[in-house]
Amino acid sequence: MGNVPRLFVTSDIARDGFVALDEGQAKYLSRVMRLKKGDAVRVFNGRDGEWRSEIDMIEGRSVLVKARERLKDQAATMPLTLLFAPLKKTRTDFVVEKATEMGVARIIPVMTDYTQASRVREDRLEKIALEAAEQTERMDIPRVDRAQALFAAIADLEDHTTVLFCDEAGDDASRAWGGDSGRAAPMVDVLTRLGDGAGAILVGPEGGFSPAEREHLRALPHVEPVTLGPRILRAETAVVAALALWQAIRGDWTGTLPDPAEDKTP
Ligand code: SAH
Repeated sequence: MGNVPRLFVTSDIARDGFVALDEGQAKYLSRVMRLKKGDAVRVFNGRDGEWRSEIDMIEGRSVLVKARERLKDQAATMPLTLLFAPLKKTRTDFVVEKATEMGVARIIPVMTDYTQASRVREDRLEKIALEAAEQTERMDIPRVDRAQALFAAIADLEDHTTVLFCDEAGDDASRAWGGDSGRAAPMVDVLTRLGDGAGAILVGPEGGFSPAEREHLRALPHVEPVTLGPRILRAETAVVAALALWQAIRGDWTGTLPDPAEDKTP
């Protein structure tokens, strides 16, 4: 099935039910893939699992498929949120694509003191997340929030979400890289110490967090400063590294999959 196109749809999917694809998907299947009536495609909607389907009607801009067999049950997504400061355009796209591949449930662009990007195209980011979800075989697409101010976004998180604040700096403003004092604990140690539950990872912009932001973040309950080692990483590298650690220690790389949220009967 790996070479069978896999498409996200919004409508319900049930055995022998019809699903209409959108214009972009229709064009892709007819013009790019050159598929015909009877050919197989896979569809998923984030609720009903993934279904092997058959093209019932294909005509340029419209395609109707018929769902035949449920290939995969719906799986719950790890309760993991990414808060990131928007970067330059292609780097922001990279962050959203990689975060989707890494299995985050929610992506929140946050505006910080040193954020340079002035405008965030959430519709564009949603599209990137959708395409990455189709490609990476995950069962849902992450929610992409509207950009908001850093501290408002943290305050709005669900109660008891631990925010892992990726902090590369020390506290000593007069020394390179903030000196040795005020260094955050290794992320591995913090993750191992924490119990189960929802988590959020916070990564700053190209210029890092301002001293005022660092101070304020450290004073908040449920915020845990963490370090990703002795090198300064680019923000997008920090995102992927932090998500990998979370998935390896707390998430679905441990082999324990969360309970499917949905009923299994087709
Ligand atoms: N402060 C630097 C670099 C910021 S790097 C400067 O002034 O140029 C961008 C972001 O990546 C940081 O805000 C931080 O969230 C994350 N990051 C980079 N390297 C890190 C490390 N070694 N540990 C923890 N977080 C890191």
